[in-house]
Amino acid sequence: MSIKKIAKKELGLLVDELIRTTKVYGVKAKGDRFDFDLLDSSTELKLDYDVTLQPPKKFFQPPCETLVTYQGQGNYKSEYDCEKFVLLGVHPYDMIAINQMDTLFSQDNYDSHYFARRNNATIVACDVVTPSKNVFASSMNTAVVEKGFDVLLTDIGDSYVAQAATEKGEQLLAGVKNAADASDADLKKRQGVWDKNKKDLNKHELKCSPSYLPKLLERAYDNPIWEEKAKTCFSCGSCNQVCPTCYCFGVQDDVNWDLTSGKRERFWDGCLLDGFTKVAGEHEFRKNREDRFRHRLYRKGKYVPSKIGGEIACVGCGRCVGACLPDIANPVNVYNKLIDDIGII
Ligand code: SF4
Ligand code: SF4
Repeated sequence: MSIKKIAKKELGLLVDELIRTTKVYGVKAKGDRFDFDLLDSSTELKLDYDVTLQPPKKFFQPPCETLVTYQGQGNYKSEYDCEKFVLLGVHPYDMIAINQMDTLFSQDNYDSHYFARRNNATIVACDVVTPSKNVFASSMNTAVVEKGFDVLLTDIGDSYVAQAATEKGEQLLAGVKNAADASDADLKKRQGVWDKNKKDLNKHELKCSPSYLPKLLERAYDNPIWEEKAKTCFSCGSCNQVCPTCYCFGVQDDVNWDLTSGKRERFWDGCLLDGFTKVAGEHEFRKNREDRFRHRLYRKGKYVPSKIGGEIACVGCGRCVGACLPDIANPVNVYNKLIDDIGII
């Protein structure tokens, strides 16, 4: 697969060309913040952003989607999104979160709705230029990414090093008019960016290797921290909504007045919300806030890792830190306090 050097102006021309033929989503300014949105012009694209308000998971698992429509008994139709699109500017930690989703949605029950969108996408990842105020990807080993993207862009000053990782990526780079093969000097500059980001994306430093977290949590179930922190939790679910690795959903039927036709939808849900665990007969098995608060941190640090080969399901984007009004959602603060209490064994 090729590794090219692309002048910044040339990348703009490529993006404008893509916009003429395909839906292109990229990072745009929203006031003084940033989010992924449909691009009308390459001039809107901000690849030096710090962090987006929402992670890119919404392109693969939308907040609400129709899974099935039905017209009378036995007449069911699965609904799929068939439109191809390009997603520009995914940071390494968010790409790693998408890679985790790919693993999770292909296990047990293969999720064809998720993979329809995933296969329609061409993902252009980009290395971080401006660290956000709460990022801790360096602590989680997610400051750089090696797979999952079609193209990876690294800003080396006057130009980008662009690495194609798939056939889709090769095709995309073939559209750049004046791209040269990256030289050894260009690759050295790229390595410099990676080395820097592995150290500098660390506004909250975890006191242990992330691989130790499952073991730490084995000894932390009855720690007083869950009750202490949960005292001020609003159960608002913001920490779930903004998290690139939270993927829980609810499913609901919307039946028409004729009582024979309708649709089945799924929508984002969140383990911090009251009612998330409510089942038939009004039973609710995590009714207490502290149980829900603990569950989120166990899910990130123990339960999901056991399903995906030990990878921790927090990629250190820092979004939950900024989204939580009472400032209790930061996983690093919780895990570090547990290390203080329990120690590293
Ligand atoms: S738990 Fe917080 S910091 Fe970790 S991936 Fe989710 S939103 Fe980002
Ligand atoms: S931890 Fe914070 S963001 Fe999460 S539900 Fe509680 S108050 Fe909301």
